[in-house]
Amino acid sequence: MNLKHALEPDIFRIISESATRLQTNAYVIGGFVRDFILERGMHKDIDVVAVGSGIELAREVAGQLDGQPKVQVFKTYGTAMIRHLDMEIEFVGARKESYTKDSRNPIVETGTLEDDQNRRDFTINALALDLDTHRFGDLLDPFDGLSDLKNKIIRTPLDPDITFSDDPLRMLRAIRFASQLDFTIHPEALKAISTNSHRIDIITEERIVDEVHKIISCPKPSTGFLLMDQTGLLDRFLPELTALKGIDEIEGQRHKDNFYHTLEVVDNISKNTDNVWLRWAALLHDIGKAPTKRFNKKAGWTFHGHEFEGSKMVYRLFKRLKMPLNEKMKYVRNLVLLSSRPIALSDDIVTDSAVRRLIFDAGEHIDDLMTMCEADITTKNEKKYKKYLNNFKLVRQKMVEVEERDHIRNFQPPVSGELIMETFKMKPSKEIGVIKEAIKEAILDGKIPNEFEAAYQLMLEEGKKLGLIAHER
Ligand code: ATP
Repeated sequence: MNLKHALEPDIFRIISESATRLQTNAYVIGGFVRDFILERGMHKDIDVVAVGSGIELAREVAGQLDGQPKVQVFKTYGTAMIRHLDMEIEFVGARKESYTKDSRNPIVETGTLEDDQNRRDFTINALALDLDTHRFGDLLDPFDGLSDLKNKIIRTPLDPDITFSDDPLRMLRAIRFASQLDFTIHPEALKAISTNSHRIDIITEERIVDEVHKIISCPKPSTGFLLMDQTGLLDRFLPELTALKGIDEIEGQRHKDNFYHTLEVVDNISKNTDNVWLRWAALLHDIGKAPTKRFNKKAGWTFHGHEFEGSKMVYRLFKRLKMPLNEKMKYVRNLVLLSSRPIALSDDIVTDSAVRRLIFDAGEHIDDLMTMCEADITTKNEKKYKKYLNNFKLVRQKMVEVEERDHIRNFQPPVSGELIMETFKMKPSKEIGVIKEAIKEAILDGKIPNEFEAAYQLMLEEGKKLGLIAHER
């Protein structure tokens, strides 16, 4: 492989010439080099190390570019960033780092390229390409990262114990890269992650979630979750999931291991959606099963109300992990709450009113809910699998029919609160809610169609029952 091809875009020649003018050496390092060698396509974030001031080099480069882009300087980190075309180019001065026990933020001194490569998390992320005009495109690979790329190994340049203890976020990064690239973590590094897993506690929730997002976005998220579990990390920030582990047996009755089942569901759904929040919903859909697990002789193992319990846990979990408490959380919470409803429907002869109610409760998330339920089928019995999937197909068909007729999906009451107040000449009051509810229930039960005229007549009847006098249109 000719690594000079990696540096074909003009920008690298400009950086190279700028470095020469400043009489400094500059290198491209990290993800860009790694992904070029792996042929993962052009990495849009380019990291440049300058032996000297990264900020000065950034300013020099910006001066040479069309439109003279703004140089964004991050003084605290001694870095600078330029946006150019669709790339983000980050400049940093080569540095040496040392750590204290309770922070992942190192004490920084200026250093050589070698010092800078030493501070990198993995050998595959420490590869550098020389931008010097005479050595343009030469690879600097002190830790044989090239072999690790070939052999698909995640390995730390220095002692993994120290690497992970210094900056515990690297443990999650190791697992994230292993899942994204389908690599294996070197056994010693893996052992060091287990030994240092408790150190993850010094990492902010936002950074942890950032990595978990990336893991859950992988084609097969279970790879990362199994590694997080195996090393003890998962238990520290998602104990709701690890609580699902294990199979209990009483009087010969067993339930399935809901942890491994969950991971299968997440893998399944990942084949059908890139929506990271839908994947989160799949991940959390059974978390209510741990606190609601009961055994009784007749019914065996039960998890009554686990959907409701689970939905409450979603809120607490999002809050604890400082995830957004906005419509994303509500979306996940709602899907968890409704997670068993389509299954209940598919077991029975499906009535129109049950379908209407489900469409009403799920609203615009109904398709996602169905996708999740289909992913929830993890039986290894081929016959059963086909049967369940077919049942959901029937539910989906029924939904289309009911929706075409009744338009429940984005339900708007056909009679507004204002009209009720106007008709009965009254101010906002409890009665209006009672009438609106009666109309909604009648529509969902199929007693009246979802149309204005029918709803208006029912409003009059309901008003009469409440002793109200109508002043008709
Ligand atoms: P991606 O963009 O796919 O996440 P990347 O390797 O570019 O991959 P960044 O987080 O942008 O990831 O980091 C850029 C480079 O900085 C890495 O390749 C690595 O060399 C170094 N790096 C990032 N975070 C750390 C860390 N916590 N410890 C040591 N080195 C790190």
